[in-house]
Amino acid sequence: MASEPLVGVLALQGDFADHAAALQAEGLRTVFVRKASDLVGLDAIVLPGGESTTMLKLLDVEGLWEPLGKALRSGVPVLATCAGLILLAANVENPRQRSYGLLPLTVVRNGYGRQYHSGTFALQSEHLPAGTTGTFIRAPRISNVGAECEVLARRDGDAVLVQKGPILAACFHPELQVGHPVGAQFAAMVRAHAGLAAAGAS
Ligand code: GLN
Repeated sequence: MASEPLVGVLALQGDFADHAAALQAEGLRTVFVRKASDLVGLDAIVLPGGESTTMLKLLDVEGLWEPLGKALRSGVPVLATCAGLILLAANVENPRQRSYGLLPLTVVRNGYGRQYHSGTFALQSEHLPAGTTGTFIRAPRISNVGAECEVLARRDGDAVLVQKGPILAACFHPELQVGHPVGAQFAAMVRAHAGLAAAGAS
């Protein structure tokens, strides 16, 4: 019997538990990724929000930097929110830091100010239902987006939801809003990819 796709949620630090709950609400199976062997057999990967500097340190401590990079480049769907988006950016500023460079964009850490400027804001998008909002927490600000990256939503002119192939990345936290349309969009991407992989294997 075919089972639901399995999504690995990087669980070193940050709001990984909220992501797992949101994915399960979409009917997907989840596993926490804390070591390289947790990456085996995944249909998709989620990089949660949190503190990207701390995540970088813990990725090194756990020997996960290389294996996670390989998994992220393997073509499975990836959802990255906030700190997760920072980990994928081509250029990180304020301050500069290492990243996987899979998204052709420049991101300014804490670019909307610190906690004081956190909150839920209206999004402008032709892809999301009217009235969709995003919760921003010490959020990164995308200052420059490469042409290969599709901008799916903006906040006051700034790109805040982007997609490049199987990678969907948000400056905000869809996992913190019950039933957020980005969660459904990602679940559809995961199911489509897992279905294609299964069809190819049979
Ligand atoms: N400010 C965090 C960072 O720079 C990101 C915040 C978040 O993930 N909510 O890593």
